[in-house]
Amino acid sequence: MGTVPTKFDIIVVGAGPAGSSAAYTLAKKGFDVLLVERGRVVGSKNMFGGRVYLKPLKDIYPDFEKSAPIHRWVTKERISLIHNNDITSIEFEGKEATSFITYLSQLANWMAIKAEEEGAILLTEVTVDRFEVEDGRFTGIRVGDETLKSEVIIDAEGANRLLLERSGIVAPLKPKHVALGVKEVIKLAKDEVEKHFGLDENEGLAWILMGDITGGTPGGAFIYTNKDSVSVGLVVILDEAIENIDKHIYNYVEDLRLHPLLKRYFGGGRIMEYSAHLIPEDVWGMMPPQYYYDGLLITGDAAGFLLNLGYTYRGVDFAAYSGYLAAEAVEQAYSSGGPSKENLAVYKKLIEDSFIYRQLRKFRGVHSLMKNKRLFTLYPLIMNLTARNLFLPEDESLKVLEAFKKARKGRVSWFTLLKDLFMVVRQV
Ligand SMILES: Cc1cc2nc3c(=O)[nH]c(=O)nc-3n(C[C@H](O)[C@H](O)[C@H](O)COP(=O)(O)OP(=O)(O)OC[C@H]3O[C@@H](n4cnc5c(N)ncnc54)[C@H](O)[C@@H]3O)c2cc1C
Repeated sequence: MGTVPTKFDIIVVGAGPAGSSAAYTLAKKGFDVLLVERGRVVGSKNMFGGRVYLKPLKDIYPDFEKSAPIHRWVTKERISLIHNNDITSIEFEGKEATSFITYLSQLANWMAIKAEEEGAILLTEVTVDRFEVEDGRFTGIRVGDETLKSEVIIDAEGANRLLLERSGIVAPLKPKHVALGVKEVIKLAKDEVEKHFGLDENEGLAWILMGDITGGTPGGAFIYTNKDSVSVGLVVILDEAIENIDKHIYNYVEDLRLHPLLKRYFGGGRIMEYSAHLIPEDVWGMMPPQYYYDGLLITGDAAGFLLNLGYTYRGVDFAAYSGYLAAEAVEQAYSSGGPSKENLAVYKKLIEDSFIYRQLRKFRGVHSLMKNKRLFTLYPLIMNLTARNLFLPEDESLKVLEAFKKARKGRVSWFTLLKDLFMVVRQV
């Protein structure tokens, strides 16, 4: 860091989607911005399932589709309930798409380059140890024995948010606040991806699976088709996993990849990459008490801005948009006289007026739904038994209701079933 200036208008910590979009937007507005990332290269520490919703990114980067690393557009959605060697699925397919599949490492890298092109200084392999605080105001970052000063810090450090913890803003994360995600990327030829998953060129599949593949732990699995590889992984709620899971989580991914009904999709592919990461799960439980402090704005996963609907995650677009709003807030604070705490408070308003907050509030109940183990064990079993009763008659065929009743009998009461159904319909 020897030749780098020691004072900036803004220091952004973390070059994930939140940090890079903040740095890009601020640099574009003419601010003097430093973006610091602990990874050796940008993207090396970022991990996700596979799908990003386009609109928020287009709002930030108007020419997004021209140069961003888009592998495939999601034209096919599949949700499957899995039990033993049976799978029951629903599928939606069309020719339009509002989301795309990518590698987060490539997208994060693209976003950081965009910030650099606008004039932000990017430093990689720099781990911020703590924030500097003077008279209650956040005034810079501490890296080893060096201090870099700024008018405003944007915290985009992601789900672990150790810097917020060290600053006393949040308590240490508890297992109940987060889920653990693990993923393998399997290399396949581009035409094999298309052949195996029934896709045309540039088309992609987002596939969510729930059932006994997570060993009875609330969570689910995902499969995303990249351009010439497939991402396969699973997510489990951490506190439940600690209680339930009796083998290494990696083995669950392996079981998924080798499942008798799934292995044909990966046939011939070799594992290119294995990764694991935490995901905010109980976002309202882990949120910092405020998103803005004197000299500090908190964005992305560090702020708990992630939506889990069970069948899809929206973390990247939420993170990127919160970074963008942090940049807008800084600009508005400067035009109201300077980045004082009072002026930075506009960030709260921008967040609360945005789709981020509206969506988090609207789906607030989903987290409690995710704790209902019956959704991940019993109902996949009942749905698959119903399908068996319908599609594998040994003698006389059954009506749909008869097939369902036979599968349900002795497993769950009508009362519990209807209560669970009501909760699903109400929350999701
Ligand atoms: C298994 C899994 C599946 C997911 N699936 C999806 C999906 O399909 N779609 C979707 O939209 N979202 C998904 N998400 C969520 C999404 O990945 C996150 O919401 C998003 O990456 C958050 O962006 P961020 O910039 O806030 O944090 P991150 O992407 O975590 O970036 C934080 C950055 O800060 C850096 N950093 C941290 N501490 C320091 C420090 N002290 N000094 C310097 N640098 C630091 C890190 O190295 C990292 O690069 C998934 C997440 C996981 C784990």
